[in-house]
Amino acid sequence: MAETEYTASPPAVEVDVVIIGGGPAGLSAALNLGRARASVVVVDAGRPRNAATLRSHGFLTRDGVPPLELRKLARAELAAYPNVTVLDRTIVTALLPTDASNGMRFIAALKGRSERTPPAVAARSVLVATGLRETLPSIPSLRAFYGMTMFSCAACDAWELQDRPLALIGETPDLAARARLIARWTDRLTVFTNGADAVGTVEEAELAASGILVERRRIDDLEGDRGTVSGVRLSDGMLVPIDGGFVRPQWQPQLDFLTSHDPEREADDTLAVDPSGRTSVAGLYAAGDAASPGPQQLIVAAGQGARAAAVLVHDLVGVRTAH
Ligand SMILES: Cc1cc2nc3c(=O)[nH]c(=O)nc-3n(C[C@H](O)[C@H](O)[C@H](O)COP(=O)(O)OP(=O)(O)OC[C@H]3O[C@@H](n4cnc5c(N)ncnc54)[C@H](O)[C@@H]3O)c2cc1C
Repeated sequence: MAETEYTASPPAVEVDVVIIGGGPAGLSAALNLGRARASVVVVDAGRPRNAATLRSHGFLTRDGVPPLELRKLARAELAAYPNVTVLDRTIVTALLPTDASNGMRFIAALKGRSERTPPAVAARSVLVATGLRETLPSIPSLRAFYGMTMFSCAACDAWELQDRPLALIGETPDLAARARLIARWTDRLTVFTNGADAVGTVEEAELAASGILVERRRIDDLEGDRGTVSGVRLSDGMLVPIDGGFVRPQWQPQLDFLTSHDPEREADDTLAVDPSGRTSVAGLYAAGDAASPGPQQLIVAAGQGARAAAVLVHDLVGVRTAH
């Protein structure tokens, strides 16, 4: 038997849609699919990307809500739909093709902590909403401040830091562009490249003309207490005082389970999707941060999930028309 085929007995659970990932993208899709009378299983490992932060901003009617509260509210709404099941603390370890003889095109192999977790679920369609994994610049105490006074998303968190002395720490080539954006919120910004060649000399001059400093020395560590950062300590011991700031992480989509399918990817490895969330594999959709690059925000992810759900329902019944 080919290694891509499912080797255990056929799954007892068959649904219209398996949603992989229970963040805003997956939960919003689940709500809309549930209301469209689709049978849905949401599989969620339960590791929200924004878990580090205390408050989420910019989600209409929920500005400032704690991240877990947003998920809790969404789960409570889903409970009204008996055709939607959420499998918590469960991961999809592999997504496998079938011969589709009974209309089921995919088998999602599961690994959960509960004995009641089925080993696999068969589905007509699958929505990938697994978000991104972040790698922060390697600075010993950065994690202790991340989500408290150091952030990655200016649109989400710069309002609370406006007009204060801020740092932008990163090693990626888009650092100068990012600095110009963050300068909307403060005129006291220092860009720290941590020894990387991330800002060109022309860019540095342009930033200087806007009052933005570039510090090229390596960072020893951040200083501060209980999540409140107070300074960037450089390798030679010099301390640059700050009240907060931003980092530029590296991002990787969480798609290890896609070993048997090879949907097209974007340059940053996220799944390439059409404007409705269809990937290049029939029946496979994606929404949220795991899909084509765009603003990484909760309400955008939720909107993409809702849109993919609508199109998925159309595709299930074979209607390819405008809405
Ligand atoms: C520190 C921080 C603060 C932020 N603050 C804000 C803010 O204030 N406002 C805002 O709009 N945005 C904010 N964001 C961005 C926001 O968190 C993301 O844009 C949003 O969470 C993306 O939603 P998603 O549904 O695509 O993915 P996620 O929210 O990341 O959810 C993906 C889910 O899929 C699960 N998963 C992954 N792989 C598997 C698998 N194989 N099987 C099962 N489940 C799996 C994960 O455990 C996770 O629960 C912040 C991000 C960070 C890092």
